[in-house]
Amino acid sequence: MDENQKIPGEKIALIEEYLPGENTYEENDTIRATAIGNVKMDKSERLASINRQKQISVPKVGDVIIGVVEANLPSMIAIMIKFVNGKKANSDLECICVTRHIRKKNVALAKDIVKVEIISHINGTIHASIDSQELGVLFTKCRKCFGTVVKMRDAVKCKDCGWIDDRKLALDFGKSDFLE
Ligand SMILES: [Zn+2]
Repeated sequence: MDENQKIPGEKIALIEEYLPGENTYEENDTIRATAIGNVKMDKSERLASINRQKQISVPKVGDVIIGVVEANLPSMIAIMIKFVNGKKANSDLECICVTRHIRKKNVALAKDIVKVEIISHINGTIHASIDSQELGVLFTKCRKCFGTVVKMRDAVKCKDCGWIDDRKLALDFGKSDFLE
């Protein structure tokens, strides 16, 4: 995401440095965004504002996201949101999904397509869950040879090299019609 672009709740400035301008609010000495948009710092007026971008909408709690895994970290995955409730997302927003409680070695790999549900917005970070049965990996490839994999119980097996690997699979893993 553009680092100049903020989403609601995200920190813009400190109250000792700036005054809250348009599309912002003040909370515990911090100025935060109330809308998505680019930060505008007016140094002469000491005003921190957000230039609202109307076309961008932030997914709400309960929305189902389809996205691409950007990073696969030991306790979480970062997902670039591509579809919200089946509709194409109109901006590059990222969400974070905690995976440390899931007993899988590889919940999802980078570049996998996953289905997750938005559970909260905390200080500008969108948090999602991959826990329910219908959520998880929709599309993945072999970790060894990037070949095509097929589902084998709750794991995947490579058609090319035979490597078996675990993933947190979605109920409709392998169905190609997940995008409307
Ligand atoms: Zn393989």
